[in-house]
Formats: sequence, C-alpha cells, structure tokens
Amino acid sequence: MKKYNFGAGPSILPQEVIKATAEACVDFGGMGLSLMEISHRSKEFQAVMDEAQALFKELLGIPEGYSVVFVGGGASLEFCMVPYNLLAKKAAYLNTGVWAKKALKEAKLFGEAVEVASSAADNYTYIPKDYTIPADADYFHITTNNTIYGTELHEDIDSPVPLVADMSSDIFSRPIDVSKYALIYGGAQKNLSMAGVTFVIIKDEILGKTGRDIPTMIDYRTHIDKGSMFNTPPVVPIYCALQTLKWIKANGGVAGMEKRAKERAELLYGEIDRNKMFRGTVTAKEDRSYMNICFVMADEYKDLEAEFLQFAQSKGMWGIKGHRSVGGFRASCYNAMPLEGVQALVDCMKEFEAAH
Ligand SMILES: *Cc1c(COP(=O)(O)O)cnc(C)c1O
Repeated sequence: MKKYNFGAGPSILPQEVIKATAEACVDFGGMGLSLMEISHRSKEFQAVMDEAQALFKELLGIPEGYSVVFVGGGASLEFCMVPYNLLAKKAAYLNTGVWAKKALKEAKLFGEAVEVASSAADNYTYIPKDYTIPADADYFHITTNNTIYGTELHEDIDSPVPLVADMSSDIFSRPIDVSKYALIYGGAQKNLSMAGVTFVIIKDEILGKTGRDIPTMIDYRTHIDKGSMFNTPPVVPIYCALQTLKWIKANGGVAGMEKRAKERAELLYGEIDRNKMFRGTVTAKEDRSYMNICFVMADEYKDLEAEFLQFAQSKGMWGIKGHRSVGGFRASCYNAMPLEGVQALVDCMKEFEAAH
C-alpha cells in the first residue's frame, strides 16, 4: 500500500531527493567515496556548498547585501543567536504559538523583550492583527507559519523596525519579498532537507550594532565570513538541501510551490468544511495554514477520534495525529506532498462519513 507522509517534521521529501542523497552517501559523484567520508574542504564538497547557496538566493530572489549561511543547532539555537547578535536594548515579539513563545523567552536573557500581541488565550487559533510595533525596538520577531496550530501569515508584513522571521515550516512555499526582512531563519527538516542543518538569511548591515562580545560560533559574522565553513558543516543535510532546491527549481520555483500548496489546501479545507464529522480548529479562516492543516472531530462525533485515526492509518495516511496541545488531526502538506496524497486523505474522510 502506498503511504503518504503527513508528519510535521522531520517530514516528507521528494523521492528524487531521498534517492540522490542516498546514492551520494554510497558513491559521491563517481568518486568511489562516500559524501560522508570526504573532507568538507574538498573541491567536490565546496561545489555543493556554493551551488546550494547560489540556488537558495536565486529561488527566493535574495537581493544584494544579504548572505545565506548554513549552520547547526536547529531553529531553537536561532532563538538565542538572534537576540545575541541583534538585541542592544529592546526587541518586540508577536506571540503566535509555542515556537514564538520559546523565541521570546530567549530574548529576555539579552534585554527588554516585549510581547506586542498574543493569541495564547484562545489557544493560538488566529494571528493577532491589531498591534503596534514599538518604533524603538531593535527588531520585530514573527513566526510566519505556526506549525503546531496551523496558522500562517500569507503575506510579508511591513515593519518600521528590522523584521526577523522564523520560517522553519513555510520557507520556499511561496514567493517572499526578502527586502522586507532583516533576517530569516529556520530548521531545514520541514520544507528543505533532512534534520541537521539550519538556514539563515541575513542582511549584512544589521550586524555589529549591539556593542556586545559574541562567542565565535554564535556570531553570524563568523559564518558569513567563512562561507559556512568555519567549522565542519552538516555535509549530508546540505547536500540533501541542494537536491530539494534543484527539485523546487524544476517544479516551477516558489511560485510553482505556492500553486501546489493552494490546490492542496483548497481540497482539504474544502472537505473539512463540507464533511459534518469534522471541523477546522483555526477560527480566522484567512490565517489557515497551507502547510499544516489542523482539524478535529465535530463535537457530536468526538468519541470517534481514535477510530478515524486508525482508519486513516490503515489506508496509508501516516503522521496525521494532531499535536497534543491541539488534539485531533494535523495533515502537514509541505512542498513535496502530491495532490494525490491529499485526495487520498479526503477519500478517507468521505468514506468514514458514509460509514457513520
Ligand atoms: C520545528 C520548528 C522549530 C524548531 O526547530 P528545531 O530545528 O527542532 O529547533 C522552530 N520554529 C518552528 C516554526 C518550527 O516549525
């Protein structure tokens, strides 16, 4: 039976990407050596790094004056690196979920960190819109896609102060105007690669303004100046990211990814809204995520939750159990998810409805 991977992260990757990466782990480019055992400073790996950075910039249309670096530590380390490098006195955060809250917590170690708005009281079922960004903040931090709650900012916002975004779970899913951001970061394991590498897009001019001494590995300058090769980078995840970038390019770029995402979302939200047994959890429909689609059993069918989960699993739907803080189901529909996967899930929902 064909399995569809709706897991939230690590998550689905294109088959071509997985195969190319596996092959390189056995014999890298016909060298007779594994990607895992060659020097990161070899000309063969340097070519991978160069191409990955160039394609990353090309696909997102990253303007002059920005650098792209690949580091370790996950998005979670960025929660600390961002304020370490950028917070002199005060930072502002939009609290739209657990990840945003964790980022805010780290910032408090470095200065004043204000929460400009929060939807925590409503279990993050929408993204606050009515707020004022303090003009004296060193930066404003947002999470563009809230992986756990299934809310997403579908447009680049305007900010009077440098804008910092955690795009772990929606990078490369739509065109973005990078010039509106000072810094964008994310763990790769949602939409770009296997776990182990973190991407950071940095506007060069925002660095060096805190007057603080920064440990070498935490300093973005180090990684920019050394081309992500200050120390040994995660070579296999970077190779895997390059394969994904090539796949995105071959499939219409980020505009192509957005088109696919909208088709999937329309199909699945359409069924959630139509089917009497289910309901979506996000109260503001314009905030519904294209990447993580959250839904629960309608109140009168609550006791059938475990049964539906089992039924869907028996039909090949993998990883649709919702996060414990939301419950129900979460179908993560990252770039690599084909429309037929979503159609298969919709068929399950229809079949389940017919049987009850
Ligand atoms: C998964 C996720 C994180 C955490 O990423 P790690 O790489 O595991 O540290 C942070 N932010 C968002 C939005 C995420 O989806």
